[in-house]
Parts: sequence; structure tokens; C-alpha cells
Amino acid sequence: MYLFDPEHEDLPANRDADLFLEKQLTRTKGLVYKYPGRAIVLLSYTCAANCRYCERQDRVGVGLDSEGRLQPEEIDAAVSFVAESPEITEVIFSGGDPLTHPVGLDRAWRAMAALPQVAILRIHTRFPLQAPDKVDFDLLEGLAGCDAMPYLSLHIDHPDELTPETEAAIGRLRRMGYVLISQSVFLKGVNDDLDVLDRMFTRLAQLGVCPYYLYHCHPIATTMRFVMTLDEEIELMSRLRERISGVACPQHIFEMRGTTGKLVVPTDHWSVDLTSVCDFTGATQDVRSVAMDVELPTVSLSAPAKTGAQAADGMPDG
Ligand code: SF4
Repeated sequence: MYLFDPEHEDLPANRDADLFLEKQLTRTKGLVYKYPGRAIVLLSYTCAANCRYCERQDRVGVGLDSEGRLQPEEIDAAVSFVAESPEITEVIFSGGDPLTHPVGLDRAWRAMAALPQVAILRIHTRFPLQAPDKVDFDLLEGLAGCDAMPYLSLHIDHPDELTPETEAAIGRLRRMGYVLISQSVFLKGVNDDLDVLDRMFTRLAQLGVCPYYLYHCHPIATTMRFVMTLDEEIELMSRLRERISGVACPQHIFEMRGTTGKLVVPTDHWSVDLTSVCDFTGATQDVRSVAMDVELPTVSLSAPAKTGAQAADGMPDG
């Protein structure tokens, strides 16, 4: 999952790729404004992991660490953008992993929390799983005390990642007041098994981590060996829904490429035509070609509307 394997690397990472429009919708360095009401701040391209299926593999883990680490004036520019956008009520700190840039996270979090309209601040991280002994609990305790609801999203893909050390870290974060959620990716050969998924999500719920998103793994550079078909994923999700508690069951998410749309995939309990989907702008696409086509053209999008329906959010990262 994390090691470069030349025998199975299918395509070189394309540094010009913009599969999910993050480059097109970057407003100040590191700040992506893609969906109404919430902004993503990519604080650092350095990550606790180096997932071969990372959708930001054109930036994360390819030697752009110093380029990706936001400087104080860049953080201040991101804060100014949010301050001038009163409809933004939630800011998501991601990367890479924002905990690799503690000074920047501290500066950005405190400044965002001081903005009157910002109600939720969220960290996306793999540190509690990848390196629980390296989690900066002092920093996180201080941030949790700021004037915004603190969320922390854990990226986890297998129940064996829930070691005693990781579970202890999760307990500390809960006691600090973080609302804990999880994000995962369907991965062939890793978690394409009902018992594995049951064990992972049931244990997360027992630990006080709400399973949030389980993503379809897109066939991007380096990921082909992990990619499952949407039908295989739907079969697993449907059987999972039948046997585990609703509080332990994540949403199965298909993220459209080349446009905006993070869509909840229906289970097979519904008779649904899955051949086409509609993105958040109303444009339809053939879902099978969207799921499997490696290269998609980038389309032009306008800025998120200042008002309007809220869309799904977040990233399978950090
Ligand atoms: S933890 Fe997230 S940001 Fe880091 S390499 Fe994995 S998918 Fe990418």
C-alpha cells in the first residue's frame, strides 16, 4: 500500500493532472474552494504515509515537500480569502498531512477559528495510525480549545491498523473534544472482504470514531492493482449494510473526475440505473467510462455559488 513497487506501478505520476479540479479551483496558494460553504487548505505536501493510491500523488511523496509547505504569508492570504467569504463556515486542513507542519497548522487554525462565521475546523491525518508516537498532542489540545468545533478525520484502510497505540491515541483525541470521523478507500487485496470491513468499521464505532466515507478507488497512476469495479464494491457495501450497525456504516462515495461531484453510491437493495450519473452542476456522464477512463479532459467551472445547496465534501487524504 505504501511502498513503491516497480513491478506494479502502472503509470508515472502525471504532475499536470488535475483529476478533481483542485488546481483549477485554487484561490490562494494551498486554498482550494470547490464546494459552497467549505474550503480546503493544503498545508503541506509532506505526509505520514505515501499511499500508492493517493489522489494527490502528483504532489504528495514526489519531492515537492518544501514547495508544498505553506509559508506564514501564504497562510495569511488563505485566512484573508476565508474572511472575505462569509459563506465559508468550515475549513478543512489537509495535505499531505497537516500535522507535518505544526507551526503552520497552529497559525492557520487559530486565525480561522477567530473568524466569526467559521464554525467547524477539521484536520485530515494518518498520523494516529501511521506514527501514533509522533502525534503532537500538546498542539492538538491547544487547537481543540479554540472557538470552533474541532473535527479530526482518520484515514484508515484495514482493521489491523487499529493497534493498541493507535487506539490509545484515538482515546486521547476524544477526551480532548475532537469529533472523530474516518475515511477509507476500497482496495483490492487489502479490504475487499466483508469480514475485514465489518471488523474495521465496527471497531471504529466502538472507539468513538464515526465511519464517514468509503471511497471508490480511482484508476489513476500507480493504483490499478488496487482498483475494484463499482459492482464489486456495491455488493460488499450492500452485504455490510445488512449486517453491521447503522452507526458503523460509512457512505460509499464515488467522486466524479474532471468536474465536481462526490456522490453516494446506492446499495443493491434499490433498482437503480447505474449507467449514468449527474454531477453537481447538472451535467451527466457515463459512469462506467468515468470510473475506468484514466485520462479525462478538464472542464471549466465557475467559483462556488455564494448561496445554494450544500454539497458533500472532504478528500480521501491526510
Ligand atoms: S495519507 Fe492521504 S495524503 Fe497521505 S499519501 Fe495517503 S492518501 Fe495521500
